[in-house]
Amino acid sequence: MCPTRVEDVVCPFCGCLCDDLAVTVEGERVVAVENGCTLANEKFTGDHRLPHPIRRRGGKWEETTYDEAIRETAEILLSAKRPLLYGWSGTVVEAQTIGVHLAELLGAVIDNTSTVCHGPSIMAIQEVGHPGCTLGQVKNRADVIVYWGANPIQAHPRHMSRYTTYADGFFVKSAFRERKVIVVDVRETDSSEVADEFVRVAPGGDYAVLTALRMIVRGKGEFVPDTVAGVPREQLERVAQTCLSAKFGAVFFGLGLTMSRGKYKNVRNAIELVEELNRHTKFTISPLRGHWNVYGSNEVFTWITGYPFAIDFSRGIAFYNPGETTAVDILRRGECDACLVVASDPGAHFPRACAAHLARIPTVQIDPHVNATTHLSRIQIPVGVTGIDAEGTAYRMDGVPLRTRKVLSRNVPDDVEVLGKIYALVREARG
Ligand code: SF4
Repeated sequence: MCPTRVEDVVCPFCGCLCDDLAVTVEGERVVAVENGCTLANEKFTGDHRLPHPIRRRGGKWEETTYDEAIRETAEILLSAKRPLLYGWSGTVVEAQTIGVHLAELLGAVIDNTSTVCHGPSIMAIQEVGHPGCTLGQVKNRADVIVYWGANPIQAHPRHMSRYTTYADGFFVKSAFRERKVIVVDVRETDSSEVADEFVRVAPGGDYAVLTALRMIVRGKGEFVPDTVAGVPREQLERVAQTCLSAKFGAVFFGLGLTMSRGKYKNVRNAIELVEELNRHTKFTISPLRGHWNVYGSNEVFTWITGYPFAIDFSRGIAFYNPGETTAVDILRRGECDACLVVASDPGAHFPRACAAHLARIPTVQIDPHVNATTHLSRIQIPVGVTGIDAEGTAYRMDGVPLRTRKVLSRNVPDDVEVLGKIYALVREARG
């Protein structure tokens, strides 16, 4: 069979959603990827899929059909008093939409992976707003970049080459020479090695360092102690000066800020530092979203319910209270009695007590691959890999929606089809 080359393919791995990939397809396999990083190459060419639906019987796995697996899943959800629908970041907005309607019909809790990544960022944005911009503006305008609590070289391998350190732009003709990059982190990383300035913060000291920078920018530097969370005042003054002299600055922050001591208050402080800098120059701030379409899940949940994650429909209306209705808290309290996991792997990322509860209750996973959650599940329904053999809409980390392409034509249903059938059965049963 002749290989086919497909261009302008959107990568289905991280929140960068790089849309300039070209892949070569031979039969039912991708055999080569151009422009992708190593994560993208593995995503497209790796072939460790579950070939058919499976269910656990007497402690052993057995094959089943799609119709049977879908019917059993609907029955599990219908007979649960407090079902949890979790995940959603690795799939398209069309599937996420069905998920929210299914949760409403069931009176379930629906949560996405923000709950363990940028949930605190969203809470801070709800309090003080979001002075953000698109990645295109960063590429073309920004002459100062700050990565705070993030290591893009490992987690978003093309972020620096497409948008910051190595990306020449309309107003920044020679990025590597003209663009200053500051990395703030608790340890040296691959990203700090290529930065112009590395600020090493003592673990848990981000809030104090942000406050000190705000004081310096506000002209109150004389009240800043000689050292703040391990950072000398001279370095803080230098960083503040670099930011103040920027024509256009951009802060990107990761889980080192959102999931360390202070959590959403850290992010709020960072946004307020950016607001302070905007009294002098133009500065923006944006979260580095990791899971592919997690931004889309926040959008879809908010369009339909008014809330971005952790939504509880058990009262008949949408109720949102992070810390109470978040998936980790519900599982840790042993509260839910069935769980549907879609396009995510909580078995690999959740605390042990949560994983143990998933193993106790009937857990169904909709995912193309065998992963840690498989071992906690009663049923797994494999689907097409979104962005490879299933298409749909996903949101880039800066809020730009992109249409993903289907590059393979495998005879396997996608998330939308499987969820649509589960929804239809539940709707029929509920009248
Ligand atoms: S940076 Fe992210 S979106 Fe871009 S090619 Fe790598 S994994 Fe894919």
